[in-house]
Amino acid sequence: RRTPVTILGLGDMGRALTEALLANGHPTTVWNRSPEKADPLVAKGAVRADTPAAAVAASPLVVACLLDHASVHDVLDPVAGSLAGRDLVNLTTGTPDQARELSGWATGHGAAGFVDGGIMATPSMIGGPHAFVLYSGSRAAFDRHEADLAVFGGATHVDTDPGLAALYDLSLLSGMYGVIGGALHAMALAGTGGAKASEFTSSLLLPWLRAMVDGTLPDLARRIDAGDYAAPESNLAMQTSGAGFVEVSEAAGISGALVAPLEEMMRRRVADGHGDEDIASLVELVRKP
Ligand code: NDP
Repeated sequence: RRTPVTILGLGDMGRALTEALLANGHPTTVWNRSPEKADPLVAKGAVRADTPAAAVAASPLVVACLLDHASVHDVLDPVAGSLAGRDLVNLTTGTPDQARELSGWATGHGAAGFVDGGIMATPSMIGGPHAFVLYSGSRAAFDRHEADLAVFGGATHVDTDPGLAALYDLSLLSGMYGVIGGALHAMALAGTGGAKASEFTSSLLLPWLRAMVDGTLPDLARRIDAGDYAAPESNLAMQTSGAGFVEVSEAAGISGALVAPLEEMMRRRVADGHGDEDIASLVELVRKP
């Protein structure tokens, strides 16, 4: 028999989490502030709870997937006492400090364990092969529910510090937005020469990014761990010589704003006397602003 699970919050993500639980045979109780959002899930076998207290009381595992940190407290504060003996998994996005605060609050009210999670997927990816969720906080609670949580996607416990799932979530998003920002700029710049974004992307941008990501990121990471910025090829002085991205972009009539901060940091690092170093050494400017 599968673990009964309660889902608090039936927005796009809460609905997807509920559908994954139902598809895997979990008795699933749902609660949402606007109750009509439960209707299609009840039709698929979920049990509607009329109050947050009834929802929490229904299952040993309670999963919150609400809008933000404040909404988690809005829902749970009035029913804190009913958390006693249950495991709370918070999949609502928040900051590392908010996760730590919620952990102390939940265990202070007798929760058996608290785990914070960062969902690395969109709702339509939940339960599919590419979804994964980072968890941090109580190792015992994670171990009790690892198989239950795996229905959402790959489940990885990153640390007992409840803040680390949120920290790694934001770190991964930083990497993603950096790639998206650079790619949008590339499409716009190539577009000034008449390139169609889709054709440019499939024939040139994707092959280039795939080669650079796979070929460069592990080397950057190794250099950062070793503090080894010696550049046998492609040093910062070479990379910043000549016209920069911003100048070329503005001459072509487009904004250089998406690439300007990186270019500015590269030039500053050279001006500081590190022109013979690898681009990995920019991490020093990030670490010590
Ligand atoms: P939605 O905006 O679709 O849903 C928000 C949910 O929060 C609704 O159920 C809403 O209830 C509820 N809510 C908001 N404020 C309150 C409140 N004060 N009291 C009670 N309930 C409240 O968001 P998602 O479902 O997309 O996202 C949920 C969480 O999942 C967020 O933290 C988000 O960052 C995270 N997430 C989402 C991803 C995505 O791609 N969608 C990806 C990764 C993480 P009501 O229906 O009554 O308005």
